[in-house]
Amino acid sequence: MKLLVPVKRVIDYNVKPRVKADGTGVDLANVKMSMNPFDEIAVEEAIRLKEKGVASEIIAVSVGPAKAQETLRTALAMGADRAILIETDTEVEPLAVAKLLAKIAEEEMPGIVILGKQAIDDDSNQTGQMLAALLDWAQGTFASKVEVSGNMIAVTREVDGGLETVSLKLPAIVTTDLRLNEPRYASLPNIMKAKSKPLAQKKPEDYGVDITPRLTTLKVEEPPKRVAGIKVADVDELITKLKALGVAA
Ligand code: AMP
Repeated sequence: MKLLVPVKRVIDYNVKPRVKADGTGVDLANVKMSMNPFDEIAVEEAIRLKEKGVASEIIAVSVGPAKAQETLRTALAMGADRAILIETDTEVEPLAVAKLLAKIAEEEMPGIVILGKQAIDDDSNQTGQMLAALLDWAQGTFASKVEVSGNMIAVTREVDGGLETVSLKLPAIVTTDLRLNEPRYASLPNIMKAKSKPLAQKKPEDYGVDITPRLTTLKVEEPPKRVAGIKVADVDELITKLKALGVAA
């Protein structure tokens, strides 16, 4: 069984994003970019399924600028077998990504597509669900555990009240939550080996998908600055202040 793992190049999670002065978006000039953390978890899970003998091949896919090749090389260094870059400088929305992934899924016929539950740049949390709808495949989102047996997969999901386990027929879509696993670091020899693994370069037009954005960003702004707190001398003063604010009776 093949596994398809979409990985997005995003602003590194350790970087504090800065909004452009004209409020049109986040400044990405000279900012460290990395693989979306939930996608690292997806790659790790795919590798574990291959190590267990459940999967035979892992294909990493990224839609983005030429530099997204670096993200794909990271996936290859972790243990993916080959990669596909769908190159575009247009900012792609989840529906466009899902349409491209649907085309690749139809070509490659993977047993499972493992995506991150959300990309930390747009926080959309849409691509996996849209892909499941386009392919008419079952979906198990926010996975904290997956178990494949035969042509079924049990996905334990992190839901508000606790954990829910769903059983899906393959092929299926899985999206990863934080507690699914702890991704491995690529070793130096594997980073070297990854350089010679196959990476196919495509364009959205190759799949006949129109990726023109459907949304217009009106404004991007920094969150409001936190105002400084005050120090009180004792509990009585605290209670008086809380009463004045209407917080305490
Ligand atoms: P989103 O719906 O944008 O929050 O993204 C959810 C997941 O979809 C990500 O964690 C990735 O697995 C996948 N994804 C989204 N955008 C891309 C992209 N441009 N290239 C590859 N995978 C993507």
